Amino acid sequence: MRAALYSRVSTAMQADEGFSLDAQLQRLRDFCAGQDWQVVGVYTDAGASAKDTERPELQRMMQAIVEGAMDVVVVYKLDRLTRSVLDLYELLQFFEDHKVGFRSVTEVFDTTSAMGRLFVTIVAALAQWEREQLGERTKAGMIEMTRQGRWSGGRAAFGYSYDGELHVNESQAEVVRDIFEWYTSGLGLRTILARLNDPSHPRLAPRQAWTLNALKYCLRNPLYAGYVRYGYRTVGGRRTGTPLIQPGQHEPIISRDLWEKAEQMRKERATFPVRAGTGSFPFSGVLRCSLCGAAMSGNTVTRKGRSYRYYVCGTSAHSGLCPQKPIREDKVEGSFLSALKEYRDRLSVASEGGVPRNMENTMAALQTELKQAKLRRSRWMDAFGDGVISGEELREHLDATSERIRRLESEIVRLEEASGADLQLVRDLALSFEQVWPLALPVERKELLRSLVDRMYLEPEERLRVVWRV
Ligand SMILES: [Zn+2]
Repeated sequence: MRAALYSRVSTAMQADEGFSLDAQLQRLRDFCAGQDWQVVGVYTDAGASAKDTERPELQRMMQAIVEGAMDVVVVYKLDRLTRSVLDLYELLQFFEDHKVGFRSVTEVFDTTSAMGRLFVTIVAALAQWEREQLGERTKAGMIEMTRQGRWSGGRAAFGYSYDGELHVNESQAEVVRDIFEWYTSGLGLRTILARLNDPSHPRLAPRQAWTLNALKYCLRNPLYAGYVRYGYRTVGGRRTGTPLIQPGQHEPIISRDLWEKAEQMRKERATFPVRAGTGSFPFSGVLRCSLCGAAMSGNTVTRKGRSYRYYVCGTSAHSGLCPQKPIREDKVEGSFLSALKEYRDRLSVASEGGVPRNMENTMAALQTELKQAKLRRSRWMDAFGDGVISGEELREHLDATSERIRRLESEIVRLEEASGADLQLVRDLALSFEQVWPLALPVERKELLRSLVDRMYLEPEERLRVVWRV
């Protein structure tokens, strides 16, 4: 076995007899000799505390472990390695991940024995507890920092850089100013979003688009006007709890006047998205944006005491990268009901004469096309046989033609199935659908839709293309 020795002495310890670095190392070497282990590395952190793992020699040893330089790490006592249960747990995990054993020469500690494994379990539980304590302490610390007007967010907010203090990041700050200027000049969020995601404009981060949420968060962040805040949370777009807000020690990016103007406008324009289960929006789940293919989801806004239900393209809502405009639910409903009526009329005409005339025509056209496709396929094969085209070219043509044939055949099967008795059934379904629809609750409407509709695409100018199930 290849062993690495790790030892550490703090300045205070070095004074104590029996704790000298040399004495520790000698015990470790003796131990390895007794086990017939070969010492391949010695790592000693002198004058370092064990409160974290930011120790040069420990880091160097971990690097060597990654490189597979040893089979076991030997220490004099566990507290040489670390005094933090959390760090110990993470180090043990790290050793295990790299298939490196761990031994303490003065303690019964051996990860290969049952006792050792039990110990690891206890360490893990303690680490969890410590993590929670750390969370509580962090929270208290963050509140205290906020009280003192200091930023407690850790990494910098957009518009600033952070090195223990916030400093204005001038190129990002410019974007923040633009956002507030645009907003207070009356531009809508979607327009601002489109401008921010314009490739010629600086972005949030390289290769990262601005989202609607990021934009809203920016507009509501008092940091830019020189305040610090702790405890700001939103759940489903609504604020919860009361955040602590204090004048900050950092340099503001926008004036307090501009901030207050934006706040005022926000209140005036306030829209309250009502988070209802998707069940209350019958068209969500089937309605899709024809421009980008994303699902369009239902939402409610209240403006001046009136509430409106509408559907918005997911891409457009989250990043503004799709130009699809939101559409009101009554418009979707109107278009859908007229499409349904048209569909039912077509089925009525069709079902009267058994197999519908227009369907008969369609069937004949499909059969002809299928015949032609098959003929084309045999011609390509002949061409290959005559040496006119290469094998590769043949494969290419066959792939395309075979795909076409497969689609035609399945279309013919579908038509055959939809004819006759089934047609009558569908017509009845469509008819009862129309009668039940006005009485149905949103969630029932959703079920009704699922029985008849596969997908619906919202096309430009609010046109609706319905893909029927049958
Ligand atoms: Zn879209």
